[in-house]
Amino acid sequence: MKIVTIIGARPQFIKAAVVSKMFIRKGIDEILVHTGQHFDKNMSDIFFDEMGIPKPSYNLNISGLSHGAMTGQMLEKVEEILLKEKPDFTLVYGDTNSTLAGALASSKIHIPIIHIEAGLRSFNMRMPEEINRILTDRISSILFCPTQTAISNLKKEGFENFQARMVQSGDVMEDSALMFEKVARNRSNILDILNLRTDQYVLATIHRAENTDNDQNLKALFAGLDEINKLTPVILPLHPRTSARVNQLNIHTSVQIIEPVGYLDMTMLTSNSKLVVTDSGGLQKEAFFFNRFCITLREETEWVELVDNGYNFLAGSHKTKVSKIFMEIKGKTFKKAHNFYGGGTASEFIANYLLENYG
Ligand code: UDP
Repeated sequence: MKIVTIIGARPQFIKAAVVSKMFIRKGIDEILVHTGQHFDKNMSDIFFDEMGIPKPSYNLNISGLSHGAMTGQMLEKVEEILLKEKPDFTLVYGDTNSTLAGALASSKIHIPIIHIEAGLRSFNMRMPEEINRILTDRISSILFCPTQTAISNLKKEGFENFQARMVQSGDVMEDSALMFEKVARNRSNILDILNLRTDQYVLATIHRAENTDNDQNLKALFAGLDEINKLTPVILPLHPRTSARVNQLNIHTSVQIIEPVGYLDMTMLTSNSKLVVTDSGGLQKEAFFFNRFCITLREETEWVELVDNGYNFLAGSHKTKVSKIFMEIKGKTFKKAHNFYGGGTASEFIANYLLENYG
């Protein structure tokens, strides 16, 4: 079985780190294509180096363009590669422009698509990610869904009537979290470097367009983080897009901003934090994996099971709501009573499923 996998953004490297390793272990032939969407050393190379992701066979170097130009250029280049490589499947992850371009190129030349992290919905059509994931799901043949909620979302959209297989696989991000936690403890010294102690700081990230592209929201979020920082120090590894906006808007903040970090440092920062404040999809779950509460800087989330069961709290981008929730939960003890994401078995499940059904 030959698979061409399209990756390009940070969360996709983290997912590929476990899935590509599993494919090698199980003898599945995989060719990696890096679109170039994320390209900085600490947004791309560091993940390949630290997590042992195989070197991509192709690097398209497409980045820093508008949505249309980026997706269009990727579409053209990925099509060329697929025509040359003639794989049995194209594999895409998640919801970025690289995901959509890979899927669209593949569908037009009738190469079946595997979508890992299928079926997630925010029901907010202003998010580029929501558009990417809905379109990708619709043209995919095998939909590996991380959660029961994802399966129900697809059923509600009529996927039972389409020629696609919906399979609940668990979430490969839990595999990554569990696999690299021990490595991180041995190899990362970020806590010493930043002089941080377990449970004594808040870890924050901000990068979603709805926050970075809205001046009022971004200013309110920083004001909210400043409030929290008066009580508990806030550490913010800042995405390059947000960093650029903070400079343009001349936002002053008391929180400690650092460059984006690699996965091992991030794992240490998350697993030792008091709690997490973020608009990241992946980090909301990592907080849960490492038994930390999460305050989500969005009006909605795809990971509704975390909100419904009291692990995650939606704050939108209101200054007062963020700090109010922080005050309410800062003294609470985190008790995990659920296993929503498969417990670290997703990548092996996916590889076995493909071999048993198509090997
Ligand atoms: N992450 C990282 N370094 C950072 C910030 C985030 O390694 O400085 C990791 C984080 O632990 C998670 C992933 O990047 O695994 C989330 O990616 P991102 O927030 O960019 O995307 P999303 O999950 O929102 O799609």
